[in-house]
Amino acid sequence: MEQTLRMVVGSRNKGKIRELNALLSQYLPGVELLSLDEAGITETVEETGTTFAENALIKARAAASTGLIGLADDSGLSVSALDGEPGVFSARYAEINGFGQGHSDADNNALLLSRMEGKEDRSCSFICDMACVFPDDPDHPIQVEGVCEGTLLDRAQGEGGFGYDPLFWYPALEKTFAQLSEEEKNAVSHRGCAVRALALALKRYLEKGKVEQ
Ligand code: IMP
Repeated sequence: MEQTLRMVVGSRNKGKIRELNALLSQYLPGVELLSLDEAGITETVEETGTTFAENALIKARAAASTGLIGLADDSGLSVSALDGEPGVFSARYAEINGFGQGHSDADNNALLLSRMEGKEDRSCSFICDMACVFPDDPDHPIQVEGVCEGTLLDRAQGEGGFGYDPLFWYPALEKTFAQLSEEEKNAVSHRGCAVRALALALKRYLEKGKVEQ
């Protein structure tokens, strides 16, 4: 019989929750995701971690304070020649550096390109960490990471996706992420990999009633 798995996602972003729901329910049909707002958490969750893994855990713990299973992700782009920048600051890269208006993906991309001027090593990776915290066993979270390696272009290509997608060249498909369909991107992306790993671990948890580390 199908089990219902109700979880609170440590996010207020409805688009992200819808996407997570669609991805996760492919592997776990009984899954039901609530946002922080729907679960009655109104306080701001400060992302004070220095790594994607720490931030995912902070948000998942906040979500698990509702008494339901807490789930969260944190992701971004890490560029080798910039010592991992923009990293955990991917979403606010331009804003925290006082660049342009600082509010758009275009500003983030323009700042990144300006910092990459004259750099030979264009290797980079998208990283997505996910954490799942169980309210009755908060010290044994599930933590997974998905990584996708690529090359940073020196100008945008493609109209799809979001964020740094138009600059992220994926060599195996000879396209940027902004030139892939959602399905094609999910099949290879950092987020797709992390979701599949999480679904597998959750499946084991449901079958055995505990987390395998
Ligand atoms: P968050 O994990 O939703 O906070 O995402 C952080 C930021 O990383 C986003 O705002 C984007 O700038 C960047 N990012 C994360 N995943 C992707 C992706 O799949 N494509 C492009 N940019 C991404």
